Amino acid sequence: MTVERRQVVVVGAGPSGSIAAALLRRRGRDVLVLERQKFPRFSIGESLLVHCLDFVAEAGMLEAVDAAGFQYKNGAAFARSGSYSDYDFGQRFSPGRPSTYQVQRAAFDKLLADEAEKQGVEIRYEVEIVATAEAGARRTLTARAANGEVRTIEADFVLDASGFGRTLPRLLNLEEPSNFPARQAIFTHVADRIPDGAFDRNKIRVTVHPEHLDVWYWLIPFSGGRCSLGVVAEKSFLERYPGLPEQRLRTLIAEDSGLASLLVDAQWDTPVRELAGYAANVKTMHGPGFALLGNAAEFLDPVFSSGVTIAMRSASMAVQVLERQLRGERVDWQSEFEVPLRRGVDCFRAYVEAWYDGRFQKIVFAERQPDDLRRMICSVLAGYAWDERNPFAAQAKSRLDTLSKLCA
Ligand SMILES: Cc1cc2nc3c(=O)[nH]c(=O)nc-3n(C[C@H](O)[C@H](O)[C@H](O)COP(=O)(O)OP(=O)(O)OC[C@H]3O[C@@H](n4cnc5c(N)ncnc54)[C@H](O)[C@@H]3O)c2cc1C
Repeated sequence: MTVERRQVVVVGAGPSGSIAAALLRRRGRDVLVLERQKFPRFSIGESLLVHCLDFVAEAGMLEAVDAAGFQYKNGAAFARSGSYSDYDFGQRFSPGRPSTYQVQRAAFDKLLADEAEKQGVEIRYEVEIVATAEAGARRTLTARAANGEVRTIEADFVLDASGFGRTLPRLLNLEEPSNFPARQAIFTHVADRIPDGAFDRNKIRVTVHPEHLDVWYWLIPFSGGRCSLGVVAEKSFLERYPGLPEQRLRTLIAEDSGLASLLVDAQWDTPVRELAGYAANVKTMHGPGFALLGNAAEFLDPVFSSGVTIAMRSASMAVQVLERQLRGERVDWQSEFEVPLRRGVDCFRAYVEAWYDGRFQKIVFAERQPDDLRRMICSVLAGYAWDERNPFAAQAKSRLDTLSKLCA
């Protein structure tokens, strides 16, 4: 069998794959992306944070994203039994643009992949990576196309951007269980028909269940009068709700009167989906001839919409290290990629833990919140979890502990 030789192969054409491929191509590198699905395809993860647009801009795609007509987003709102609190991304500690977008991922991911292609990246759709091996300093991949054709590709380096597919972690036995309990999401898209003024369409709305504080709903407005709507809870909790996914989601929404009244006229026109046990971790984010990007490495939880931002940030950071390696410099993936990437991931982890044990909700729904601290928290909510100057990012856990005690 002939072996195809490439400089860099990227597995998966989601946000981390397209951004990484474009960034390498812009540096003159030969990049091949292999994607097992045909685009456009459905994907969850629709509310973007501001920081991810920094990487869209770095990859030369911001103009196309700005022109695509996605729903403008300027913050995050939290609701619980009649209480309401919102954070405006324009009022935050870390500098940068004040807004971002909420996107149907089928369209967004296709746009990024098309933009990468326009810059010279080669993308092959309906090709799945099914095996990998070390080949001296290089790595081989076995790629199986939808028509059954199997070929071997040898690359100087592989970036695994295969998201929940977690290709190299599975094949190389790198998977580690997450510390979070197994949670599940039930979700759909609706034509929401929410009257003007009843709801701030420029923000994601996270609603806490009136009785179970670790159960929450998302309402993510899109342009064109549509919304993404979902609920997240521990799997064991959702087992109490029998029936088909749509019936389960409708029953859960009916339990929150505020959300139910917003959605009273919604038209349910899209199949309801379920996703369970998505939190994941790995033993290492890099190894001989490869690095893991985005969800292929780690996924925490959807509550702070951090997934796409972490995915794109990991792409940008990996490309900087890889570019130096390809130039023949000595690099250390642990200290130059994994450790600094994990700093921001661990900041989000501290916020997720504080969300589910109630500390973050004490802060969010407190009657009085000092403005300067709100700005620091808002920065993390906008995605700037790596900003070392922000105490609510750099020392997230201890700061949230102290503030939640004060708020209580
Ligand atoms: C319920 C839920 C809600 C979420 N909400 C948000 C949100 O509001 N905002 C947010 O930012 N994030 C959210 N996320 C997280 C978000 O979905 C992910 O973090 C993000 O999609 C990760 O991007 P990625 O590029 O790493 O992977 P993906 O977007 O998953 O892309 C991976 C690609 O790789 C391809 N692939 C997989 N295996 C192979 C293989 N073997 N060979 C070839 N191709 C392969 C797949 O087909 C896919 O196209 C949510 C997640 C969940 C579970």
